[in-house]
Amino acid sequence: MTPQTLPALREALPPGSTIGIVGGGQLGRMLAQTAHQHGYRVAVLTGGSRNTPAGSVADTEIAAPFDDDAAISRLLEVADVITWEFENVDLRVARAAQRAGVGVFPSAEIIATTQDRSLEKKALQEIGVSVAPWCIVNRQDELAAAVREFGLPVIAKAARFGYDGKGQTRIETHNAVADAWQRLGCQRLVVESVVAFEREISVVVARSMDGQVADHGCMENAHVKHVLDSTITPARISEARSREARGIAAHIANQWGLVGVLCVEMFDTPTGLVVNEVAPRPHNSGHCTIEAAAASQFEQQLRAVVGMPLGDGRCQPAAMLQLLGDLFLEGALDWSEIYAAAAVHLHLYGKQEARSGRKMGHLTLVGDDSVGADPAVLLAKLMSLRQALTDR
Ligand code: AMP
Repeated sequence: MTPQTLPALREALPPGSTIGIVGGGQLGRMLAQTAHQHGYRVAVLTGGSRNTPAGSVADTEIAAPFDDDAAISRLLEVADVITWEFENVDLRVARAAQRAGVGVFPSAEIIATTQDRSLEKKALQEIGVSVAPWCIVNRQDELAAAVREFGLPVIAKAARFGYDGKGQTRIETHNAVADAWQRLGCQRLVVESVVAFEREISVVVARSMDGQVADHGCMENAHVKHVLDSTITPARISEARSREARGIAAHIANQWGLVGVLCVEMFDTPTGLVVNEVAPRPHNSGHCTIEAAAASQFEQQLRAVVGMPLGDGRCQPAAMLQLLGDLFLEGALDWSEIYAAAAVHLHLYGKQEARSGRKMGHLTLVGDDSVGADPAVLLAKLMSLRQALTDR
């Protein structure tokens, strides 16, 4: 990626201006709630659905596909700036915004890069960031050759538009190659060595229009079936490793000329940090910043895209536990223990239909005198509360 220069400094967009959000999910919902708190208006382009998590709390919900030119025009009529809560979208909204003189943060170039795992890995390597050994394959015989070269097991991922383990599979045997190729849709794939990590961590970093950089510290993440299940902060890593991780995130933000927020997911290995993925938006590993920091990841996104200085993102010790659709499929849930746990923050995203693996909400607990400051203890408390939802 060509290093970006900062946009010309301009007056910050004042309260009363409208934030145009591309994507209708929970990240957009929490950004919209923060924007409202600060006196901004919100318009959401949902991608098609109505009453989306973001759209149902916005001033304007435009329920149309991301490549619908009339819908894009409607968005640009009301929006003073465009930002993203979902990056796997057609980029014509960014091109139209540029023609209309409406700022797009993060830039279309950053979004295009992170849409494609191979472009993203190349852009990271160009600026000296370590990623797992990888290659691109376009045919089944190339996949078989990559498996021989890297050695088993490998992880094969759809090059474009993958997230939350969607479009990826672990290949354990040479015989599994043909099946994996079919299952992933016979498309261009990124093949990676499996990284033997000790833990997965992430850093959510924000960068303002005048180049100020701030993060929330290191998050330690646990995934179940490739979907983030829980986060604790601070991550249980050394001070030096934490500085290194935060430095990598700041380096990416600076080199890419970010304006907005991005999340860098990393593997912590005995020989160093390896970047797995970059998301050019707030991230569910940053949800605990809503209560654990003076300025959450959503407030930092708002501040960056309207041209304000960043806030203080430093976090108290905290834990976050995701509530996935699988829980909701088990029948009526018993919320009484969660309601009785006065210090626990419940977030439900207003999704009408539960599906397996769908993110429906989350719980956050911030350390204090009564619960202590050990994030593992905070997480254990949340785990028992989640268990109580279905213990009837
Ligand atoms: P991704 O969709 O790339 O974020 O991958 C989802 C999850 O799959 C990661 O958070 C890891 O738990 C696991 N994973 C992905 N790539 C690798 C890899 N190269 N080595 C080990 N685990 C991986």
